[in-house]
Amino acid sequence: MTKQADVVVIGGGITGAAILYELAKYNLRAVLVEQEPELAAGTTKANSAILHAGFDAPTGSMKARMNVEGNAMYHELKDELDLEIEWTGSFVAAVDDEEMSVLQELLERGQANGVPGLEIWDGDKVREKEPNLSKDIKGALWAPTAGICWPFGMALAFAENAVINGAEVLRECQVTGITVENGAVKAVETDQGTIETKYVINAAGVHADDVSRMAGDDSFTITPRRGEYILFDKTAQKDLVYSPIFPTPTKMGKGILVCATTHGNVFVGPNAHDLDGSEKDDTAVTIPGMNEILEKARKLVPNIPAGAAITEFAGVRAVSSTGDFIIGHSEKTKGLFQAAGIQSPGLTSAPAIAKAIVGEIVAETGAAQKEDYKKGRPAQPCFRTLSDDDKKALIAKDAAYGRVICRCETITEGEIIDAIRRPVGARTVDGVKRRTRAGMGRCQGGFCGPRVTQILARELNIPVTEVRKEMRKSYMFYDKETQSGGKA
Ligand SMILES: Cc1cc2nc3c(=O)[nH]c(=O)nc-3n(C[C@H](O)[C@H](O)[C@H](O)COP(=O)(O)OP(=O)(O)OC[C@H]3O[C@@H](n4cnc5c(N)ncnc54)[C@H](O)[C@@H]3O)c2cc1C
Repeated sequence: MTKQADVVVIGGGITGAAILYELAKYNLRAVLVEQEPELAAGTTKANSAILHAGFDAPTGSMKARMNVEGNAMYHELKDELDLEIEWTGSFVAAVDDEEMSVLQELLERGQANGVPGLEIWDGDKVREKEPNLSKDIKGALWAPTAGICWPFGMALAFAENAVINGAEVLRECQVTGITVENGAVKAVETDQGTIETKYVINAAGVHADDVSRMAGDDSFTITPRRGEYILFDKTAQKDLVYSPIFPTPTKMGKGILVCATTHGNVFVGPNAHDLDGSEKDDTAVTIPGMNEILEKARKLVPNIPAGAAITEFAGVRAVSSTGDFIIGHSEKTKGLFQAAGIQSPGLTSAPAIAKAIVGEIVAETGAAQKEDYKKGRPAQPCFRTLSDDDKKALIAKDAAYGRVICRCETITEGEIIDAIRRPVGARTVDGVKRRTRAGMGRCQGGFCGPRVTQILARELNIPVTEVRKEMRKSYMFYDKETQSGGKA
């Protein structure tokens, strides 16, 4: 393949997807390349899913500015793209006088960063709202503008709208090199061929330093910092907490929190451990890690239902050597834009980062806004939330909505087929899971996994031995004849 593009975005996490969404508003040929079969396959799929208010980052930093701007932008985006967001507010809890003085510092920093509505509450007032909080908590910082979200769905929504507006998403397309001539970007080399372009946006997450080096800019490095989590069955601990509950922060991060998901589960985590630079994609969970997060979470909420854990997972933060987000034009290579070092609050900041970078490219190219730009994206069916009459009507129109595939979450074959056929459709079992919730319940796909695999094989017109769980080589079945998973 040799292709021409005006702008190539490298990386299909929330940052790359938000950038593609912003680019697609203009008369620019925009292509996003992602090495895995699904978007949001990196850090975007494994994090605390909180839209932070913006009091953590130092005043004047890129992180602080992008956080506050991004948080505000999500209000409109939620309505336009039908994003799963709940504006729950958040608490930072303090257990002694020293921690109470940290709350005061956070409040003042937040006010300087432009965060509205911050208040310090005493312990009794906090427990009126969050009755399961420890009696040891003396007070908390209340941030009403924080929220919880579904990051995979948000990244997908950005990409779906971009594709509807003519942008292109190339999946299973790994960038292997960037051609630079006379100090300027000329082309992106991938394992699917060459894309000729003058502009590259590096949104490659923990690999952003590797990608930047490909284009001759070695001005920063990324250290991977892993955070582990435990997720609990939603029937076991209903209403344990309403808002995210943080401890006071440490120099490694915001600390181990207790939080609900937009789907009604509770989770605890993340811890923070730096990895060796060669272990950037190591999302293993460990027994010491599980013990650490349970012990710390119980200091905030004593009755964590440890026996109702349904899964454990980890995400890797992209910690930059500059200590801040690296956003904007490279100082070394013409045409290279960085969206690098996007650790927390990266989910919250994504729309603001996208606006800043695309604004620079539009100013440089003079690209005009598309006259036929379309807002929104196709509605996603959700069978379990319909009234009985609407369910009957949907089944009468399409019998696939009458066949329940995931019993834990009541997900029908119709919803799974829709997930596969959407503008950036599911290609893997986890892609179906994250679009529909099939496999996210108590049995974690034990019952529906094989049936989802069959539906994927049929819809994608591939043998079942080629269906993957999530990543490029994660085949669901071992093929005795070829002695391998999938194609030999
Ligand atoms: C433990 C933890 C908790 C967090 N909690 C929060 C939170 O509550 N709120 C918040 O706002 N933020 C949070 N964050 C931060 C947030 O998750 C990240 O900032 C965000 O997901 C980063 O998105 P990204 O698109 O930059 O990177 P990623 O999601 O990692 O995407 C990068 C993509 O680039 C692709 N890629 C890499 N190299 C190549 C290549 N050579 N060719 C093609 N593709 C390539 C990868 O496959 C990947 O899909 C948390 C992060 C962690 C780890």
